[in-house]
Amino acid sequence: MRIFAALIAGIATWSLLEYTIHRWLGHDPRFIRNPFGVEHTAHHSRGNYFAPAWKKALAAGGALLLLSWLATMFVGPRAGIAYSIGLVGFYLYYEGTHYFEHIHPGLTGWGRWLRRHHFHHHFHDPRSNHGVTSPLWDYAFGTIARPGMIAVPRKLAMDWLIDPDTGALRNEHAGQYRLR
Ligand SMILES: [Zn+2]
Ligand SMILES: [Zn+2]
Repeated sequence: MRIFAALIAGIATWSLLEYTIHRWLGHDPRFIRNPFGVEHTAHHSRGNYFAPAWKKALAAGGALLLLSWLATMFVGPRAGIAYSIGLVGFYLYYEGTHYFEHIHPGLTGWGRWLRRHHFHHHFHDPRSNHGVTSPLWDYAFGTIARPGMIAVPRKLAMDWLIDPDTGALRNEHAGQYRLR
């Protein structure tokens, strides 16, 4: 039970970190000149740009070592390791989810909803919808915005939105997205 609770705590920690890092280190003008902020600005302005994997691995590996060491000190090695697995596992899930949102239209209704949540953040209001794996903390902190028709700049459009033969918006997305 303790092990399971530690695992869930690790997942919850990443979920909150995802929101916190994105909102304050990625978008708050007071703190934006940090390595994450610089990479994140490029992610917004260049369309399908993602920070190099080695930078992420370095930052994530360092944070992981520090957090597992701290967790082990406080709750012992077994729960400490479970906590770290929850945190790192959910971090990797976040990286995968975010990347997949940009390169694939989504497999489920939930996946398509998450994309609208995220692309509203990208193309309408970067001060809202900071959560990438869920809208949980956007509700908690009052930054949730309900996406309407999402107007995507043509040069930043995701490949899955465009029909490669005609260069126009794919029909199946016409009710939810448009190009500008
Ligand atoms: Zn994104
Ligand atoms: Zn952002």
